[in-house]
Amino acid sequence: MIHRTEPAWQTPVWQQSLNSAFNDVEALFDYLELDKSLLPASLASAKAFRLKVPRGYAELITKGDPNDPLLLQVLPRGVELEDAPGFTTDPLGELKRREGPGVLQKYQGRALLLATAACGINCRYCFRRHYPYGDDPAHREQWQPALDYFRENNDISEVILSGGDPLSLSDDTLRDLVEALAEIPHVRRLRIHSRLPVVLPERITGELLDLLGDSWLQPVMVLHVNHPRELSDAALEALSALNTSRVTLFNQSVLLKGVNDDPDILARLSESLFAARVIPYYLHLLDRVQGAAHFEVSQEQARKTYQSLRKMVPGYLLPRLVRDDGELPYKLPIL
Ligand SMILES: *Cc1c(COP(=O)(O)O)cnc(C)c1O
Ligand code: SF4
Repeated sequence: MIHRTEPAWQTPVWQQSLNSAFNDVEALFDYLELDKSLLPASLASAKAFRLKVPRGYAELITKGDPNDPLLLQVLPRGVELEDAPGFTTDPLGELKRREGPGVLQKYQGRALLLATAACGINCRYCFRRHYPYGDDPAHREQWQPALDYFRENNDISEVILSGGDPLSLSDDTLRDLVEALAEIPHVRRLRIHSRLPVVLPERITGELLDLLGDSWLQPVMVLHVNHPRELSDAALEALSALNTSRVTLFNQSVLLKGVNDDPDILARLSESLFAARVIPYYLHLLDRVQGAAHFEVSQEQARKTYQSLRKMVPGYLLPRLVRDDGELPYKLPIL
């Protein structure tokens, strides 16, 4: 069921879910029946980048399995603290590319707004895990410089809401933002990069669907799903509701060692996405962010996996294997 908007005095259901996400490492260990010998290292790693796992996502993890592909994406582990040459805190050089508060424009015609620091889940490989979001806006008044920038640059036809996760913003705040963007004549498309429809499907409220459907901006959503098991029944329902509201859906994944570096899994992911009317868009090589080196699949191995995948799915279900090199004005195709 899609949750209708509650009276203003009530905390929305999705906000309650977000508030009750696991953020205590020991509680997660208990819930998932994990071997406590891993606990001290996990606690230490969570100090560098905190744990956050929505309960609905934790329910998809197999209890007692330390190698569960969903668990590996969210569990702080000791390996994160090991030094890895070439892995830095700002792998894409984003800090020097900011065009004003919260705006990144590296590509022609598309500008990215870091709309909020908040996220629904903390992925251990997140390339913005060290990003100093504190400097960036999270309220409407603070977006004014960004809105001015979009207005002044009339080559911008698409605004991408990113973050953090832009769907962590309330429906009211998002509506304000979308309405302000819609007033800029040359902006035609609104793209939302979000993992929430999958990790917190109750976020897809009737209010959100209405505000996307009401806007004359063409709505596009790029999801972030790495493994077919993340597509729970609730997630599929949320995707179906987005489809019904005519939001064009794409997916990007990160190729992660131990999680999805296997052509069979990637093929299943593509098939499951398409069954939910989501087009696989990008398969990213890992951004070399400090703390994530253990997830890296070498470029050579990535090519092999991708060549196998190519034989298994129709061309339209083959995501583009890319790397973000930080300097180029597009994502660099690997094959
Ligand atoms: C990835 C990215 C985009 C979007 O690129 P597409 O190829 O259009 O999906 C836009 N801006 C920045 C800064 C990006 O990193
Ligand atoms: S959902 Fe995206 S932005 Fe948030 S932690 Fe995961 S990878 Fe990072």
